[in-house]
Amino acid sequence: MQLTNARLILPDVIREGSLTLREGRIANVGRAHPKARGKERLDLKGGFLAPGFIDLHIHGAVGHDTMEATPEAFKAITDFHLRGGTTSLTLTTLTAPHADIMRTLEAIKPMHNRSLGGSRIIGVHVEGPYISPLRVGAQNPKYVRPPNNPSEWRQILRYGKLVTQMTIAPEEEGALALIKALKRNGTIASGGHTDANHEQLIPALKAGLNQATHTFNQMSTITKRGPYRWAGMIEFSLAQDEILCELICDGKHVPPIIMKMLFNAKGRDGVCLVSDATKGAGLPVGTEFELFGMTARSTQHTAELVDGSGLAGSTLTMIRSVKTAVEMGGQLLVDAVRMASLNPARQLRREKEFGSIESGKRADLVWFDEKFRVRGVWLDGEQRFLA
Ligand SMILES: [Zn+2]
Repeated sequence: MQLTNARLILPDVIREGSLTLREGRIANVGRAHPKARGKERLDLKGGFLAPGFIDLHIHGAVGHDTMEATPEAFKAITDFHLRGGTTSLTLTTLTAPHADIMRTLEAIKPMHNRSLGGSRIIGVHVEGPYISPLRVGAQNPKYVRPPNNPSEWRQILRYGKLVTQMTIAPEEEGALALIKALKRNGTIASGGHTDANHEQLIPALKAGLNQATHTFNQMSTITKRGPYRWAGMIEFSLAQDEILCELICDGKHVPPIIMKMLFNAKGRDGVCLVSDATKGAGLPVGTEFELFGMTARSTQHTAELVDGSGLAGSTLTMIRSVKTAVEMGGQLLVDAVRMASLNPARQLRREKEFGSIESGKRADLVWFDEKFRVRGVWLDGEQRFLA
């Protein structure tokens, strides 16, 4: 199979060319006009061809949430996000009773590294319950608790590599032991929904903290104690190279000027774009939906709690995140794509497998036009969507 007449988004440059796919892999990254007689070819009409996007933080779509823990819900969510260019994603749980989180993990387990037709499910991001009661956002405060009961979180980690990420507040009692255990398991330890100051974050970093969950949203910042300033999780994440910063890039969760501050501080390798999409993604504006006991509504650009107290995840797709990073965040397209593909792949330590257009990697690809409309998506070389 050959995809010709494309503008290939390679890790460092955009170049006209063509791709040869063989047995689900990228076999050759070629020049502009290959002679491919006798082979199946598709002319991409000068459109962009990027590595499939990898979303590390996604709760749901089209009225379905990960916590439903059914194959039907997983299928609806992954079908929707595939159309937004996402070829791999980590389904994300909410702050909930332990039994509900365990039930969800159990339901996802047989789907690990599989596609039900849509995006491949590459793991689970456990967001909460071990977060700060001071920074709950749209998580249900009723179920928030400290990680001071190792026998509880050890049950979660028994799912091994399925648990790709956990969002926790590093200042809570028991968090350092948990971060160490996450590191041993190869799980991303992500600080989020946190009120930590820099003194609490230094030992967390040493223990293995390596990511910031939806940077700027539900996160501590500079405070003053007497004459002195203390950094919060925001400044700590911006300053430390070890921390990869998630960004919900819809222009609403974080205004463009703060997005630019993040891009400038972290550079193109230090940010990963995430959707944090909830049930409201793909639903008509104004639709109300429930998030494990919290009521939210989809708006024109995002999702909000109905009481107006805060945002409630987003309605993003990854292609829209990339578009916003370019148009509002001032990023080069090649770098915005990197933040949506290679950076998350590296963080998962799966960059040899996917995350960029290079020969030998899985042929996970997204074709889009100049207006960021997705025209086609391939997963393991198989065409899954064509507009
Ligand atoms: Zn959150």
